[in-house]
Amino acid sequence: MKQITSLNEMVAFVHDTKLKQKSIGFVPTMGYLHEGHRALIKDARKENDIVVLSIFVNPTQFGPNEDFAKYPRDMKRDRDIATAEQVDILFTPTVQEMYPVQPLRVSLQAGKAARELCGASRPGHFDGVLTVLLKLFMLIQPARAYFGMKDAQQVAVVEGMVHEYFLPVTIRKVATVREEDGLARSSRNVRLTSEERKEAPVLYESLQFVRQYYDAHPHLTVDVLEAEWLRFLEEKLRFGSIDYARILSFPELQKPTFKGPQLAALAVRYSAARLIDNLLWEEE
Ligand code: AMP
Repeated sequence: MKQITSLNEMVAFVHDTKLKQKSIGFVPTMGYLHEGHRALIKDARKENDIVVLSIFVNPTQFGPNEDFAKYPRDMKRDRDIATAEQVDILFTPTVQEMYPVQPLRVSLQAGKAARELCGASRPGHFDGVLTVLLKLFMLIQPARAYFGMKDAQQVAVVEGMVHEYFLPVTIRKVATVREEDGLARSSRNVRLTSEERKEAPVLYESLQFVRQYYDAHPHLTVDVLEAEWLRFLEEKLRFGSIDYARILSFPELQKPTFKGPQLAALAVRYSAARLIDNLLWEEE
């Protein structure tokens, strides 16, 4: 595995790879790699000649009072994991090279789907996500890019950009990887206290509850369903506080018609980490 930090070197590598007519599979991450990231890398490894993994904690997707400075980082460990997963290129650009001009002269604004869920609690977050991904897609020119369904709203927003701006990349979606007790793997899980960690599987339990409740009462309105879900969560949460728990159509993220894919998504705040999870199901 080769680690590349300079943009020029990355451009030269991509140029050379294209000349050799090799396909690039790209896995964008913020590092502190875990089993969820590994699943993305494994899929990329299967489907492409060259796998590029980026690790970049992107400042433009963090709000002023968010955890940018405290986001967990461990490059040595990440390098070992990337090597074990047979990554070809570990791309670790600097903030200075990724954002040479501050403020940006041209900025991206995510559309309607980005205003719900995490977009409502984290204004500007998806604008930052799209900005960095467009830069990375232009630099790396991947045939395929791999995203986890754990961040389902991110998938919806990124697929929107790819579709609407005719970007020549295929978005591959990878199922959420969980701990044995159901907690979705996340780099932020290490920031939970031991009591919070014990409680955290409740997020996924509540998603299964709402899904089963819907199956048992298919004629309920979404408002009643969400209220039942909140009641379930409020009863079980001692340490966490609910940011949102919503059911929306996917990928539009609008009020559901209960036709086509539905996304139940929630976010819960703990003392030093905000956790998200979701469940997607298809209605006939
Ligand atoms: P992050 O480093 O948290 O920005 O995540 C990088 C990529 O890994 C994103 O596409 C995430 O959706 C994906 N990812 C993170 N956690 C998981 C997980 N538990 N299962 C599957 N994919 C994940």
